[in-house]
Order: sequence, then structure tokens, then C-alpha cells
Amino acid sequence: MSEPQRHEGEATKPIEHFDQMPLHASLLQGVKEMGYTQPTPIQAGAIPAAVLGRDVIGTAQTGSGKTAAFLLPILERLMGAPTGRIQALILTPTRELAIQAEQFLTKLGRHTHLRGAAVYGGVGMEPQERALRRGAEIIVATPGRLLDHMRRGYVDFRSLRILVLDEGDRMLDMGFLPDVRTIIERLPRERQTMLFSATMPPEIVRLSRDFLSNPRMIRMQETTVAAAGVSHTAVLVDGDRKTEVLLGLLEREDMISVLVFARTKHRADRLAHQLSQRGVRVGVIHGDKSQGQRVRALEGFRRGHHPVLVATDIAARGIDVEGVSHVINYDVPHEPETYVHRVGRTARAQRQGQAITLVAREESDDFDTIEKFLGLTIPREGQWTHRSGPSMGPRGHAGTHPASRHGPSRGRPSGQRRQGSWRF
Ligand code: AMP
Repeated sequence: MSEPQRHEGEATKPIEHFDQMPLHASLLQGVKEMGYTQPTPIQAGAIPAAVLGRDVIGTAQTGSGKTAAFLLPILERLMGAPTGRIQALILTPTRELAIQAEQFLTKLGRHTHLRGAAVYGGVGMEPQERALRRGAEIIVATPGRLLDHMRRGYVDFRSLRILVLDEGDRMLDMGFLPDVRTIIERLPRERQTMLFSATMPPEIVRLSRDFLSNPRMIRMQETTVAAAGVSHTAVLVDGDRKTEVLLGLLEREDMISVLVFARTKHRADRLAHQLSQRGVRVGVIHGDKSQGQRVRALEGFRRGHHPVLVATDIAARGIDVEGVSHVINYDVPHEPETYVHRVGRTARAQRQGQAITLVAREESDDFDTIEKFLGLTIPREGQWTHRSGPSMGPRGHAGTHPASRHGPSRGRPSGQRRQGSWRF
């Protein structure tokens, strides 16, 4: 892993290696097997306080290593605990995040006696009911489905000691806060609570005041996280040429695993169709897809079966794929925070990644806002041609972007495809 960035963590002395963490040897073994050596800043900040049972607020987004930042203290605190009772609950906004957290839990806790179960909608209730009844020690759940189970009367939270609210702001966006409050009110009051959220809108601050006491704050500057390890580029392109330009970009040698963001489900479907028509192996993931379709699209992407995945924002929130080389914004997001979340899918855990945004003329104001928000000057390539005939973008230079030409770039003769490319 690359050098840790300096963030506004509160750790008094930097913890540079997991061996320095107050964690049981069997957990350090799990950490080692995951390939982690240095804790990420959120882990260095949160773990020492959380293993002591303190409440924690971490302003950190997916990609920061926050999942292990709450899983490791949970596992540590439950090491000597009796089995067969639910003792920790992690509430998470999406099924993908729930599945992912449960998978991490299985791996990190491999050398312990502790078991986890994931509870989420879109699949049958019965296997989840069995897991809840037999009392897996750690439950990872989406709020709506968990409430369904709770209403049936067999979920026993009397032994619960630890609650984690993961991606608080996203739970708010998705309208889950009332469910979350209902669930929390049915939990024992004597417990540790950890809250993770990329941003802290007023409703989340209120939630933390209502349910956390004297929390340790670990603040990660969101913009720093977004910028760390990611190189940003904009390509100025007419709206109706975006697919063509995208196809050109996908020819590049370095496009190994590419997540493409579209603004709407309809645009995502249309784009995936167009790419597949042109021979690109592509998956698509958005809110209208069934759970099975989403899992298949994600697994296919993860395994490299289709190295391009087209996604909408909500659907992509929980995506955790090692080694996404590029995030391409087919559409410029309206909110700078959305841009940050999108590019957070690449350069995960401080690796290197690239974010490329296709900017149509009418999207340039939104893109300028993003640039200001990030405090970066993002280089522009390509040019717009529509309206007043051939013209230059504000900072564009004509014909500089390889993707604005047809065919492969980087000096390969036109028409020559690279070996092993992802086309059929
Ligand atoms: P998260 O922010 O929890 O979704 O984690 C993002 C990615 O970083 C996941 O693929 C983790 O496996 C990975 N990761 C988490 N902690 C570390 C670490 N200390 N070193 C290297 N990778 C990590």
C-alpha cells in the first residue's frame, strides 16, 4: 500500500503498523491474510478508541477502510463473549454494503469463534430468520428488512452491546432514518454506538446527539480523500458524441476495470446496450435491477468477465471492487459530493486511480462547481463543436485527446486491437 496521507485524525501518535493496534493475535492474523499492513487513517483513529468501548463518529466514506475500522473493534470486544446471542448490529443502507461487510467480517474473523449474518431485502426471509433465531453474534442489516423480521417477533436484541450506523448520510438520502430510529429505540440503552458518514448533514448530527454519548470524533476531510491517489481529467465533448468518445477511451491499454456512471437508469441501460452492440463486454447496475441481476453484474465485474460496469449513483454506492482502474463520468453529476463518491470507487484504500469526466457544454457549470469544491484545477482535453460551429472549450485545445479520434490511441495503428481486450 502507498504511504498514508495526512488527515485530520485525532490519533496522538501515528500508528503505522497493525501490530501496534490493540488487537488479539487471531485478529491480526485475519488482517494479515487480508493483505493489510498499515492501518488507513480512519482505522488508526477509530480502532484504539472503539476497542475501549467508546462511542465513535467517523466522517469517512467508502474507500477509506471504514468497514474494518468498525469490524475489528467489534470482533475484539466480542472475543470472549458467549455465543448464540446477537451482540452487535451493523445497519447499512444497501444490500451490497451489507453483503460486503459480512464478507469482510467472515475474513477478518476467520480465526475467531464469532459468526456474522447479513439481513437484506430482495431475497427470501427464511434463511435470514434462521440466522437471527440461532443468534449469529454479529448481524449486518438494511433497516427495512430488519424491521420486517423484528415485527415477526423472533429477533432478540437483549444481549446487544454494539451498534454501528454505516453511511449515515446515505441512509438519510434513501429515506431510512425513521426506520433506523425505530430500530435503535428497541435496542438496549447500555451499548456502544459508532456512526460513520461521509458528510454530516443536520439530521445526522441530530441522530448522533440523540443516540451517542461523548463520542470520539475522527474527521477525514472528504475532499482530501477524493483527491488522494486519484488523477482527474475532463474531456469536453458534445452530448451526442459521448458514447463514441467513451468507446475511444475504452480502447486505451490502461483501461483495465472501468466503472462508468450515468445520470439515470434509462441512460445507463441505453449506454450499456450501445457499448455491447459495439462489442464491449459490459454489465449494468441500477435501482430497477433485481437483487440477482445486481449481484451477477457485480460479480462479473469483480471477476473481470465484463471489465466495464455502467452504474447509476444509488446502485453504485456499495460497490467495492479491488482495482477499479478508472471511473468515467458519462454524465457530470449535479452535486460535487456525488462526484466525490463516484471517484471514491477508484484508488480504493489509497491506491492509484483515474477519474475521467465527459463534459458537454451544458454541463460545464456543474463541472466548474465540482472543481471549486475539490480545490483542484482539472485538465481539460477535447473540444465542443456544436452550436457556433467548431469552437474551443474554455481551456480546451483542439484535437488533443486520443479518444476524439476514431480507433485505438497511444500510437497503435488505427484498427489494431490490443490482445486480450474485452471485446468479443
Ligand atoms: P472500505 O472503505 O471499508 O469499503 O474499504 C475499501 C477497500 O480498502 C476494501 O477493499 C478493503 O479491503 C481495503 N482496505 C481496508 N483497510 C485496508 C488497509 N489497512 N490496507 C489495505 N487495504 C485496506
